[in-house]
Amino acid sequence: GDGLTVVGASLAGLRAVEAARKAGYPGRVTLIGAEEHLPYDRPPLSKQFLGAAEPADPVFRDERALRDELGVELRLGQAATAIDTRARAIGLDGSEVPYEALVIATGASARTVPGFERLEGACTLRTLDDARQVRRALDAGARTVVIGAGFIGSEVASSARARGLPVTLVEAAPVPLARSVGSEMGKLLAELHVQAGTDLRLGVGVAGLDGDGAVRGVILTDGTKVAADLVVVGIGASPGTGWLQDSGIDLDTRDGGVLCDSTLATSVPGVYAAGDVCHWVSELFGRRLRLEHWTSAAEQGALAARNALAPETAKAYDTVPYFWSDWYDSRIQFVGEPAADEITVVDHQWEAGKLLALYRTGDRLTGALTVNRPALVMKFRRMIADRTSWSRAVEFGREKTKP
Ligand code: FAD
Repeated sequence: GDGLTVVGASLAGLRAVEAARKAGYPGRVTLIGAEEHLPYDRPPLSKQFLGAAEPADPVFRDERALRDELGVELRLGQAATAIDTRARAIGLDGSEVPYEALVIATGASARTVPGFERLEGACTLRTLDDARQVRRALDAGARTVVIGAGFIGSEVASSARARGLPVTLVEAAPVPLARSVGSEMGKLLAELHVQAGTDLRLGVGVAGLDGDGAVRGVILTDGTKVAADLVVVGIGASPGTGWLQDSGIDLDTRDGGVLCDSTLATSVPGVYAAGDVCHWVSELFGRRLRLEHWTSAAEQGALAARNALAPETAKAYDTVPYFWSDWYDSRIQFVGEPAADEITVVDHQWEAGKLLALYRTGDRLTGALTVNRPALVMKFRRMIADRTSWSRAVEFGREKTKP
């Protein structure tokens, strides 16, 4: 064969090439990445990286470690543009990379608002280059408008406030984060913005950007205009599968993500997918899920490579979804599934910066949201995996948060 090829040189792709070597795979391993950068970590980009202090380098491993120690052939700054699944080859601009086994780890790219590409000072926040641009603007004392009060937008707002800069956070929905934590809890978390002096505008859309060369402000659908030197758009991301159209690999009809079975195998033999790009069948939740979370991207990357190299012993992937987000010195963590029959706030003390809310579906615990309770949230993650009853979970939560 022609080795393992991994398309997408970020978290899932890096974990894939590492796992192949860890499993003792002796063949050729090629990592193709559209960005010029070595694989780097994204979560800091909207957090520590935007702080006033000199930021740490987010690159995971240096080039020598990847090339010499792991023996990975790097094709950075080169986007895959096509795939021939019969000949087993990836088309790059002007060349081809053959494969025996393939892992698709092309993640997702930030969605934008029309017209915004033309204005300096308007950007999304997905890549290291984006983060450098936002950082430079904050260093210059920008008045900031963030469009979209999701987790990334909330972190950007928090980072700007931490520097004492004025921030307006605009959200089209009446409550933020409804899809990630449910609307009741979204409303509760929104209080953190208000307490920190972020000007939160809910239920109002963006009609357009004002500016001429450089951005001057944002025009809202209620007619108001908010002046800005920096506009960060955080309205979600779309799977990076443009290059897979008409490839024969089944894609989700709504968002274009790659459809996989429980072992992360796509509809085409030898081809697996991992990370933000991938919809897989979760046996625990009984349906397909696509997550945009660090932990599952890392785990899936490793498993997809192992399964691609040994399909006859392929293992199913499953997880209790987990993500975290840091704003205003609070660590927000969520485990499980946000859609629930009932959400109970077990403990809520904003003065102490603490929250515990539990999510019930049927008579089982299916989710938990915490603020500043890092040890506890992992206990609930365990309980969700163990299909713990609702009454037992609530009792445990009450016990653990007793003053
Ligand atoms: P990505 O990281 O999106 O990487 C995909 C890579 O593939 C990119 O480098 C892209 O350039 C490349 N690519 C795309 N198309 C092609 C192509 N055709 N050819 C070659 N290469 C291609 N998660 C959490 O759980 N907690 C957090 O606090 C958190 N914070 C975050 C903050 C930010 C600012 C961002 C952007 C994400 C955050 N996440 C967080 C999410 C987490 O970073 C992602 O889930 C993770 O990066 C997904 O990894 P991935 O490898 O699947 O995809």
